[in-house]
Amino acid sequence: MNPILLNPGPVTLSNAVRESMLGADLCHREPEFAELQGAIRQKLLDCYSLDQSAWSVALMTGSGTAAVEAMISSMVPGSGKLLVLENGVYGERMHKIASRYGIAVSAAAHAWTSAIDIANVKHLLEADPDITHVATVHHETTTGRLNDLSALGEVCTQHNVQILLDAVSSFGAEAIDFNDLPIAACAATANKCLHGVPGTCFVVAGRDSLNQAHPRSVYLDVCAYVKAQDASGTPFTQSIQTFYALNAALDELVASGGVMARGELYRQRLATVRSKLAALGIKPLLASDDCSCVLHGFELPTQISYAELHAQMKAAGFIIYAGQGDFATSIFRISMMGEISGADLARLLDALDAALG
Ligand SMILES: *Cc1c(COP(=O)(O)O)cnc(C)c1O
Repeated sequence: MNPILLNPGPVTLSNAVRESMLGADLCHREPEFAELQGAIRQKLLDCYSLDQSAWSVALMTGSGTAAVEAMISSMVPGSGKLLVLENGVYGERMHKIASRYGIAVSAAAHAWTSAIDIANVKHLLEADPDITHVATVHHETTTGRLNDLSALGEVCTQHNVQILLDAVSSFGAEAIDFNDLPIAACAATANKCLHGVPGTCFVVAGRDSLNQAHPRSVYLDVCAYVKAQDASGTPFTQSIQTFYALNAALDELVASGGVMARGELYRQRLATVRSKLAALGIKPLLASDDCSCVLHGFELPTQISYAELHAQMKAAGFIIYAGQGDFATSIFRISMMGEISGADLARLLDALDAALG
């Protein structure tokens, strides 16, 4: 039996998405490919009702980090300066990417369990008027925290600063207010909340922001993708089969009620798991209100190691996820993306009971 993946991507596939990958072999210079690519780009904009005169999609081949790296390396102008907000692995990764490319960058570092200190961000923006962009993670998958974008958006708007958003683990299930937030670009992937397969990722970029962009990479050049794809082409060979999968997955998202309905479904699943674990005496890492609808972290009880818990859950058909860094031995994570049936969820609760009861 196929395991149920409770790690934060890749996710358990639906049969329709898996079977879509058996579509016809395509050349990426033929009109059949252009049609597939164009359909996906339009469906990605439709997820958040974005107008294609104001927003564009750079659809590329790579994992989520490729999209984040494309966004960071392309969207900060040559004379620009970046402030990275860090409260987990993925914020820290954006800082590392900016440094690698020689971008002028500073960071607001927080403990991994902390919320972003907005008063401090305001102070940092006031202290350094050269900052043009703030990079932040929407859902910090390290802990499950959903960082508050509306408070950040207000401060950024006041200081005429634009946001570069890592929405890799939130795009497709959490609300993102593209119209009211000063978002220059947003990076995401096919194989998390969108339920596609790993291999396709994308950057949604504001067309105005693209005019100020300064691509520093050849392969991860957001401007090159947008220009070629707006003209029905692609700068490089794309991963055709993963495109088929994303296209089918986006149709399923619409058929199942869209982004907000998916978020609500995840929320219900996580509430069930969370209350089961609470009944077993397992403490959540963060308060429910601070968490995404996608993933929650839980403190590992003293009577069982992560390796043991993982092995027992795997034997029962479920892949749970370890903590990263300092959290590797102290927490475990459960995400609720992908094809998970009511029966799967019931079996999961029994398996948690058996392992932790
Ligand atoms: C998964 C994830 C990424 C990208 O990871 P990949 O392994 O490259 O897919 C980036 N940011 C966040 C917040 C993520 O959850």
